[in-house]
Amino acid sequence: MTKYFYLNGDKKLGPFIKEELIEQNLNRDSKIWYYGLEDWKKLSDIVELVEILNSLPPDLNTRNHQQKKEVFVTQKTQNVISAIKVSEKKNNKNLKWIIIGLVTLIIVPYIYQLFTNQTESDLYESISTSSYESDVDFQMYVDKFYRDIRFYGVYPKKPKTTIIRFSKLDQLNNTTHIHGLSYGSNDDDRIEIYINPSSWTSFNKPMRYFLMYHELAHDILNVDDLEEKTIYKGKLMYPAISDYEKKNMDDFIESSHELFEEIAEKQN
Ligand SMILES: [Zn+2]
Repeated sequence: MTKYFYLNGDKKLGPFIKEELIEQNLNRDSKIWYYGLEDWKKLSDIVELVEILNSLPPDLNTRNHQQKKEVFVTQKTQNVISAIKVSEKKNNKNLKWIIIGLVTLIIVPYIYQLFTNQTESDLYESISTSSYESDVDFQMYVDKFYRDIRFYGVYPKKPKTTIIRFSKLDQLNNTTHIHGLSYGSNDDDRIEIYINPSSWTSFNKPMRYFLMYHELAHDILNVDDLEEKTIYKGKLMYPAISDYEKKNMDDFIESSHELFEEIAEKQN
């Protein structure tokens, strides 16, 4: 084990083992010697005693320097901390908006759906309960529809239940005049169509065919309405038909067969 000596003024003190040397009143410039060294060396120049050097308080001039540095570091750290806090705050704010956004995204359509489901089911209730039988032979349109679509090689399922009745649809919605509504498109075992009697009365024969085939296409073939664009006007699935659009049977045959052709093509 290395034994060390050190100089205190002119006095040579020692020998000490490292652990004992630490206890002595040393400074960076204290002169140290141990066996093997040619001459006395400053403590700060002896690598093996770096532990002792590190345990010493810094010199006064370096201390000032270090303090400044520390202050700077602290300030810098504080800046970083406050920057972090600011960004945390920002994040919190953002998070708040993200949550609000998400809640809105989830809740609003849910409420909307709940509401529209409610009003749709209310609408259905009022349509179906106020509907009534008439002496119009609606079944004739159904039979013709199945015959025509078979001609194109399309064989939709024959429903177990067919409900086609009059219901005063124009009383339910005052912005659009509704001629007919289909409620059986989700159910292949069921045809459920309500026809507005006032439309029926004002319509000529081809327009009645238009209306019946339009609703039957919804119900039996699950076809959607076309967009209300001028290029689609006159097609069977165009969502609007007015009684001033006097149609003839050729118009009807052309547009219904056009739709069946499209469906047959899609099917194959
Ligand atoms: Zn429609």
